Amino acid sequence: MSRISKVDRERQIQQEEAGQHLYANRVKVYPKSVQGPVRRFKWAVLIFCLTLYYVMPWIRWDRGPNQANQAILLDMAHERFYLFNLVFWPQDIYYLAGLLIMGAVTLFLVTSLVGRVWCGYTCPQTVWTDLFMWVERRIEGDRNERMKRDAADVTLDTVWRKVSKHLVWLFIAFWTGGAWIMYYADAPTVTVQFWTGTAAIEVYFFTALFTATTYLLAGWAREQVCTYMCPWPRFQAAMLDEHSLTVTYQNWRGEPRSRGKRSGSAGGDCVDCGACVTACPTGIDIRDGIQLECINCGLCIDACNHVMARTGRPSWLITWDTLADQTAKAAGTHTKFRFFRPRTIIYLTALVMIALTMVVAVAMRPGIGLSVLHDRAPLFVRLPDGNLRNGYVVKIVNKAAEPVTFEVKTSGLPGAELTETNEGLGPTTTLVLPVAADSVGTFHVFVTAAPTGLVDGTRNIDFHLRDMTTGEEANYRSAFMGPANTGPR
Ligand code: SF4
Ligand code: SF4
Repeated sequence: MSRISKVDRERQIQQEEAGQHLYANRVKVYPKSVQGPVRRFKWAVLIFCLTLYYVMPWIRWDRGPNQANQAILLDMAHERFYLFNLVFWPQDIYYLAGLLIMGAVTLFLVTSLVGRVWCGYTCPQTVWTDLFMWVERRIEGDRNERMKRDAADVTLDTVWRKVSKHLVWLFIAFWTGGAWIMYYADAPTVTVQFWTGTAAIEVYFFTALFTATTYLLAGWAREQVCTYMCPWPRFQAAMLDEHSLTVTYQNWRGEPRSRGKRSGSAGGDCVDCGACVTACPTGIDIRDGIQLECINCGLCIDACNHVMARTGRPSWLITWDTLADQTAKAAGTHTKFRFFRPRTIIYLTALVMIALTMVVAVAMRPGIGLSVLHDRAPLFVRLPDGNLRNGYVVKIVNKAAEPVTFEVKTSGLPGAELTETNEGLGPTTTLVLPVAADSVGTFHVFVTAAPTGLVDGTRNIDFHLRDMTTGEEANYRSAFMGPANTGPR
């Protein structure tokens, strides 16, 4: 059973000093490996998250001919975001904003219920740091071995192990950076291009950038990211209350500490062994209460349970519990976990409302779009017969996976005739325009009409678009212009 070591004591002293100074050097944390149900669950979540991350870009999704067949793809070059059956265009950006808001509210809800489980289990910083620590243990040994090696003179064995560790870290970081790129380009294509040296320079640049950031953040910065860089711990306190489940040292049961005493002797259950501190990846002492550095990973629970078992005491001295229940237990009673509380009801209601709005909005999302831009110069042309002619750039969005033929008409301008200049269509009252699958058709259209009904040289004109297959419609209001002295005075 290990007591708080000299290194940990120095760390505590430096942390206390840091409270009096604006800057203190980092004291390296040497977390000790633990076994137990929490650790096993944490491994399971880690494997699930990493598998999801590395495998996801390779999942294929059939969207029809000439369509991207990657299930999740943020195609920057073609301005599309593919998410399984959904295809988002740049004008759909608010759906992504909605998804982000849903993610944030879910995080608020989960935090108010079970504390910082995001930080402890699924945050990428935690997942990769955990993986890097596992590599470190395999190569350099557990806490005591690493501490001894770092304190001793440098030997060939030390150099060999350190170099190996950093090479494995860089290898993982490289695959992590490489996998990230695959979310932005077709995975099989970009992989071949990467290894044959034919990929775009951006691919190499961003792979190198994400390799470097993964290596530095998970290998070197580790708990400092959570403690100093991440804003989330700063405002998560606002989501917690006395009914939130957090990793808790049962003070009423553990105190006063009974170092070296056997079970049944006077004193609390905590034997002051320091196992919870040495197991902590952020190097804190859970017995000091809820702290900003605590990511709620629960590894101290496993560490303490082993000590309790070895000393013949009941397990779960450190456990997941609410402040309300701990206060009640200290008084000899017990309170039930309350799922429904004002804050969780508010978060849950907001989440359900946003989710429903999103589902309805996505389901009713138009498959076509129309925009009309009046020519800047000339604003109008007076024809020999006295009529006026205005030019427009008409853009038709076809989100369908097949070509669509559209009908374009106008209203608000009696007798108006339309001519499409690129294709040589018209003059007519109804243009028939084909648009290729999953693309924007751009047409230059002249509208010719008598100079009647203009007020101060202008009059509204409405463009109407109709998908000739499905009948879906879109409208756009623009202006028909003439000389400024046209119209009633
Ligand atoms: S105190 Fe316990 S729960 Fe908190 S970070 Fe350390 S080991 Fe994890
Ligand atoms: S809480 Fe448990 S692990 Fe931590 S010092 Fe006390 S007995 Fe040891």
